[in-house]
Amino acid sequence: MKRLCVFCGSSPGADPDYAEAARALGREFLRRGIGLVYGGGRVGLMYEIARVVHESRGEVIGVIPRGMVEKELAYTDVRDLRIVESMHGRKALMAEISDGFIALPGGLGTMEEFFEVLTWAQLGIHRKPCGLLNVKAYFDPVLAFLDKARALNFLQAEHRGMVLVDESPSRLLEKFGAYRPPEADMARWAIDLTKS
Ligand code: AMP
Repeated sequence: MKRLCVFCGSSPGADPDYAEAARALGREFLRRGIGLVYGGGRVGLMYEIARVVHESRGEVIGVIPRGMVEKELAYTDVRDLRIVESMHGRKALMAEISDGFIALPGGLGTMEEFFEVLTWAQLGIHRKPCGLLNVKAYFDPVLAFLDKARALNFLQAEHRGMVLVDESPSRLLEKFGAYRPPEADMARWAIDLTKS
């Protein structure tokens, strides 16, 4: 795994442990020589992880829409800041250049980004690992929703199994390293739906 994409809150959250977890994940990236791809912001948990990696001269690629740069929301110190024209363009580029996807605590943006890459995994558009850093059980209600969707047959077991979860950055990255995407029934979906 050369680079992983992190989705996380543009807010720091109400508990300083969220920021500490973002920094801990950044340190784990540095320790393992993994580059960070993220939304390019200088706000919230996004800034916490990006700053740790950037200041220790790890690889950071920020991908941010022009409109956000104009509102001065970009972390312009990042050496590799890629300015795109739209939110859709941002997600497509982040997905293309990353070897996997991690969500940290966040709000609507974080959930939307994570569920999109997970849906793409379900469709076989990519075969990269997707996981949640479950800091202080933040994602437990999301996991309960996935279990309910599985129990009620809205989600197949193999797709439920694609969601890697751990509260420890190091253990989550171990799970990423060991991840094998589901094989069954993928071929019928294995078309690039992002291009047409
Ligand atoms: P949210 O979880 O609603 O705070 O949204 C965070 C996610 O949406 C991040 O992963 C970013 O990709 C994107 N995002 C939302 N707000 C900003 C911002 N002010 N600057 C940069 N990216 C943002």
